[in-house]
Amino acid sequence: MKDQYQRDVDYIRISVTDRCNYRCQYCLPREGAERTDHSDVMTYEEIIRLVKAATAAGITRVKITGGEPLVRKGVCGLIQNLRRIPGIESVTMTTNGALLRRFMPELAASGVSGINISLDTMDQEKYRRITRRGDFSEVWEGIRKTIIAGIPVKVNCIPMPGFNDDELVDMAALAWKYPITVRFVEMMPVGMGKQYKAVTQDEIKKILEAQFGYMEPVKEAAGNGPAVYYQFPEFRGKVGFISPLSRKFCRSCNRIRVLADGTLKLCLNYEGHMNLKQEMRSGIDDQELEKLLKDCIYMKPKCHDFPSRSWPATEDGANVFGKGDTVEERVKNMIREPRFMAQIGG
Ligand code: SAM
Repeated sequence: MKDQYQRDVDYIRISVTDRCNYRCQYCLPREGAERTDHSDVMTYEEIIRLVKAATAAGITRVKITGGEPLVRKGVCGLIQNLRRIPGIESVTMTTNGALLRRFMPELAASGVSGINISLDTMDQEKYRRITRRGDFSEVWEGIRKTIIAGIPVKVNCIPMPGFNDDELVDMAALAWKYPITVRFVEMMPVGMGKQYKAVTQDEIKKILEAQFGYMEPVKEAAGNGPAVYYQFPEFRGKVGFISPLSRKFCRSCNRIRVLADGTLKLCLNYEGHMNLKQEMRSGIDDQELEKLLKDCIYMKPKCHDFPSRSWPATEDGANVFGKGDTVEERVKNMIREPRFMAQIGG
């Protein structure tokens, strides 16, 4: 369905847990973040019900995220069940890759449509440092197994000045060696990411073109949304960019998010308000749930207002999203996102 700004909203990101086995420096504090109580986390039955209702509101694609989705028991079964819902065309997952190796047979059997792996460096020591605990070689083996299993792979890398900006050519070259997509994502001023400076698409493109030659834009979208894709000569895979800051892509934003506790988020920049799990637990029927989703999607905010480089230290006086009697009032009253990215799902 189209929202009030005529955008086709067809993609939902669902976080199945806010727990993560990593503590990436730009994502979470060393000690982690407050965790949602298990009783407050959506059950798989609730997620399935929600996705069924979302198809009536035009959702065709689902991304499973976290925290780290593979730390929640039974997630492969959830993917399998979501794949069977009429109207759902793809169910993908994003993971840090630490448990890919272990779950590969189950994941392959689940029919998952694709797996995104977050990988900022291929250096064992730097990998441990940025994730505060990860083992690159284990993740790499998981990625190799995923490719061998024939599951489409996207590697997502956040370039950080002074940390991995010397590796961008090597990261892109993964798409030369393997039939995968490598995407460079601008760091967003969310959670711990507020402390970092984004490396922009133009800066990365310049570095890559100096090494590999002209990047041919790839017209057909290779994924779920505002990423742009390019092809270098003789590359087996593609290189992509997700640049919310330097290429504000809100006009083509096609997504909504649901957090592990059922909070619906209509824009990454703003705190959610409507808790869909609570609505379901309070006994609304499927038609009411569909209507609620449609009303909310229609009200999706026009755009984020992340600044291009740094996060403003002060709030501008906007109120809590959730106050107000109507969906319209609630959306109007949203505040900016106070959570860490692991509590949102990216
Ligand atoms: N654990 C899963 C994973 O690693 O893909 C899912 C959750 S993780 C929060 C989702 C994505 O958000 C990761 O690719 C991570 O790099 C990214 N991320 C975290 N903080 C970010 C920030 N401030 N700006 C941009 N991306 C961020």
